[in-house]
Parts: sequence; structure tokens; C-alpha cells
Amino acid sequence: MALHIVNHPVLHDILARLRDRTTPCDDFRILTYRISLLLVAEATRDLPTEAGTVETPLGSAQAKRIGSRVVAVPVLRAGVGMLEAFLDLVPSAHVGYFGLERDEATAVARRYYEKVPKDLEESAVFLLDPMLATGGSAAQAVDGLRGMGARRVRLVSIVAAPEGVAHLQTAAPDVEVFTAALDAGLNERKYIVPGLGDFGDRLYGT
Ligand code: URA
Repeated sequence: MALHIVNHPVLHDILARLRDRTTPCDDFRILTYRISLLLVAEATRDLPTEAGTVETPLGSAQAKRIGSRVVAVPVLRAGVGMLEAFLDLVPSAHVGYFGLERDEATAVARRYYEKVPKDLEESAVFLLDPMLATGGSAAQAVDGLRGMGARRVRLVSIVAAPEGVAHLQTAAPDVEVFTAALDAGLNERKYIVPGLGDFGDRLYGT
């Protein structure tokens, strides 16, 4: 499985602020948007393009446009925080939703909702889930997307744990993961350490 740890000074600066326990919810949202722009730019780097031309005020220029159907699938609820950045970069993307809820006692994810565009076979599919912790929910989402026909799936996360990476490596070896950081590991409650806490709670102020 390909793991891309995106390395960029601006991204590191944003991540430092996301990790900071004193960062309030309104800043956390903006920082999530900004780091997602950088991660999505990297995750979409090898999308196919179609060559064409465009008329500038001064003449004709060669142009490249995205040459593939693109589907973004945020995992509810934390992944929704990454969607706006995705759509600002790829406005033509179609959007699906996957609802996965983690049982706080067992840390096992339960699938409770899914609404995903058709024709996934023809699409470049991007799963948006900020915390790759145990990898259980990511693996379930990938499995669900594959069941609906998706071929190539990329996961865009903000922080990953080695346990989650290892799990995906076994469960979904052909998924590509793009993340800003690979942290030390999980604690007994399956939170990423040092991580940044509960992403959904910090994003939505719950
Ligand atoms: N989900 C989170 O929001 N944070 C973690 O550390 C792990 C899973």
C-alpha cells in the first residue's frame, strides 16, 4: 500500500495549530480547510488530464483539464470538514457520504448511512477521513466503495497511526493514503497519540 506523508512547511505549520489543545473550534475549522487544500492538491496530483485549448485575451493557449470523473466521499462526521476544500479544488466532483460511527467501548466502527454516486467504476474516488486510527472504519468504507464498483480509491487523512496503516495494508493493499503525519500509535481508547484529540468534537465544538 502506498503511504504518502506530505511534506510542506505550510502544512506543518497548520498541523501544529490543529494539534494545539488551545485552538478554538472556529480556528480549527479554518485550519482543517487549509490543510485539506494542501493534502487534496497532493492526492489529485496524478489525475489524468485532457489536452485542449483556451482563448486568452491575447490569443490561443494550450490547456489541460481534468480528464476523469471524480468522486469525493467524506466519512461522517469528521470527514465533512475536508469536503469544502476538495470541492474548491475540484468543483466538478460528485459527492457521496459514508456514515460510520465508532463504538466508544470497542472502537469498532458501525456503518449507519451511505449515499454514493453511481458509476464508481469510471471514477477516481477520494475518501476523506481525517484520523486514520485503527483503520477499521477506513477499511469498511473502502470495502463498501469496492462493493459499489470503485476501482482506484485514495484516502486523504490528516493524521495517521501505524496501526491504521498496517490494518489497511492487509485489508486494502491497493488503497493509496495521503496524510500530513504518521504519529507514534494509539492509546488504550484507540485515540491517536499525540494526535490532536477527537477531530469531530474539535471541529464541531461538541
Ligand atoms: N478519531 C479521532 O477523532 N481522533 C483520534 O485520535 C482517533 C480517531
